[in-house]
Amino acid sequence: MSQPSWLTHITCPKCQGKLTQIENATGLLCAHDQLVFPVRDGIPIMLMEQAVVVDHQA
Ligand SMILES: [Zn+2]
Repeated sequence: MSQPSWLTHITCPKCQGKLTQIENATGLLCAHDQLVFPVRDGIPIMLMEQAVVVDHQA
């Protein structure tokens, strides 16, 4: 699975860490914070208030 070039320029707004694309490219995961930032219409929403905490119960 290839990642879009813009992804390498985007970092987590909380920890400035690297992000990885999640399945179906619907979000960007910060593994450090366990947060997923949504991607809407191909545009990443890098806002803490929009981030979703990863649910490990699944
Ligand atoms: Zn982070």
